Amino acid sequence: MQTKLQRSGLKVVVLGTGGTIAGTAQSPADNVHYSAAQIGVQQLLDAVPALAGESLEAEQVAQLDSKDMDYDVWLKLAQRIEFHLRRDDVAGVVVTHGTDTLEETAYFLQRVLAPRKPVVFTAAMRPSNAMLRDGPQNLFDAVGVARIDAAQGVVAVLAGAVHGALDVRKVHSYRVDAFGSGDAGVLGRIEEGQFRRLRDWP
Ligand code: ASP
Repeated sequence: MQTKLQRSGLKVVVLGTGGTIAGTAQSPADNVHYSAAQIGVQQLLDAVPALAGESLEAEQVAQLDSKDMDYDVWLKLAQRIEFHLRRDDVAGVVVTHGTDTLEETAYFLQRVLAPRKPVVFTAAMRPSNAMLRDGPQNLFDAVGVARIDAAQGVVAVLAGAVHGALDVRKVHSYRVDAFGSGDAGVLGRIEEGQFRRLRDWP
């Protein structure tokens, strides 16, 4: 099933937690030696011109390398997501996260919240000032998925693929297309502004 990604309508709340998507390197040519969690979530949004004019709200829930994710941040994240999803003016929530433990946080939130609106994780394999950065496109796609009417549950959007929270896993340590869904397969794909759903929402 194919759906055109909408760019207007209800609000999308973007919750920042850090990770490489918010990281910076000394040199734009260095995709390996960088510091994660250096810039704020509002700055991440401001760096995507294609999102200008969209109804978005940014909130910094944490600022860490996701190897340091802990139960306190998980609890706060779950509470903030629940708060925003209860709002009638919110279509869905996007969470920016480090790639190292994205699958654990996504799994936890799907099991604990089983949300009836979309909660869309996104991340990047390259820092925010890399020459060829993946964060802006991933963030743009994630916001589009959070606006899909029929969407629900926790998913992750990276490199043009949409993964369900119960299946997503990091399968590569430096490739931009670093996530897979194992034998279950991806939930869908983003192709030229269209979302093609291949499996049911979580
Ligand atoms: N160490 C980083 C993190 O998980 C890796 C990344 O985001 O790609 O926060």
